[in-house]
Amino acid sequence: MMRFVKSALIALCISGGAASAHAQDAAPRWSLAIHGGAGVIERASLTPDQDAAYRASLQRALDAGSAVLAQGGQALDAVQAAIEVMEDDPLFNAGRGAVFTAAGRNELDAAVMNGSDLTAGSVAGLTTTRHPIAAARAVMEKSPHVMLIGAGADAFAASVGLEQVAPSWFFTQRRWDQLIRSLTQQGLPTPLPPAGAPGSPIAGLAVAEPAPPLNERKFGTVGAVALDAHGRLAAGTSTGGTTGKRWGRVGDVPVIGAGTYASNADGCAVSATGDGEYFIRATVARDICARIGSATPSDAAAQAEIDEAKALGGLGGVIVMTATGAPVFAMSTSGMYRAAVASDTPARVAIYADEK
Ligand code: ASP
Repeated sequence: MMRFVKSALIALCISGGAASAHAQDAAPRWSLAIHGGAGVIERASLTPDQDAAYRASLQRALDAGSAVLAQGGQALDAVQAAIEVMEDDPLFNAGRGAVFTAAGRNELDAAVMNGSDLTAGSVAGLTTTRHPIAAARAVMEKSPHVMLIGAGADAFAASVGLEQVAPSWFFTQRRWDQLIRSLTQQGLPTPLPPAGAPGSPIAGLAVAEPAPPLNERKFGTVGAVALDAHGRLAAGTSTGGTTGKRWGRVGDVPVIGAGTYASNADGCAVSATGDGEYFIRATVARDICARIGSATPSDAAAQAEIDEAKALGGLGGVIVMTATGAPVFAMSTSGMYRAAVASDTPARVAIYADEK
């Protein structure tokens, strides 16, 4: 009850604030922030071309999301649009370009949350749905459930008309090489590539891609958080998880409150990237929103949770959108691929931790 009263009061404050801001501004404010993963990303580890390729990819995703918001569209649609661009981009560990399991499969996780009504959807272990973020959204909007996994989740996605692809669609050579290197180092057996992938028994698919250096300690998950012109907040995250994962391992991304959370009552939307096991245990995304809802400044709230995950042993980063559209980035790594734009602020793209 107390919680409800507090939430209702905060919601009133937010809508009052938004109304007065709207009265002053000709156009209501919208804002979008995205990430493409955190990790050991240093200037010395990227050539100028590779640095430029990541920045251009982030800009493309930002453009897709901001086009939605600039037309008065929903935060949820902007989040999905930005993430789908990154899911199709082999540079990122989501959709095409995802990391492989020890069995040589791509098993994809995603989640989305609508801050204005606390609806949420998530999927884990997808293998044939081209856009896992769209599947997560369909779970939220077209099923009575919050989380679906494995073959059932793909079957549900197909049943609502989402594009299905051969598992080899997600194959990239550099992720395959990363898997083989990792398994070899651990003395584990190496699998055959998926059917249809280059070098597999049924070859045929060629994936054109730039080949940045493979730093095993980059996470590469993608995410987006948005505030739309109607004051709605939303968050989404999509990932292939961790290289060489086994036994149906699922990380923080599809766990609502760990890697993904949004609440208009708290004035907060969060997408995380990092060591999922620790982000689950620290309930990173929900706790950031709870702190912001209790009047902790958003940058302090984000940093406190990143520090908490680090104290447990997990590194990574978060992007946070606030009720006023101020994006916050926090990380315990040397870099995080990230970008932001708002109706009244030009686009900024950054990679290294010390970039503003
Ligand atoms: N958090 C993701 C997971 O643990 C990994 C990542 O951020 O890249 O599955």
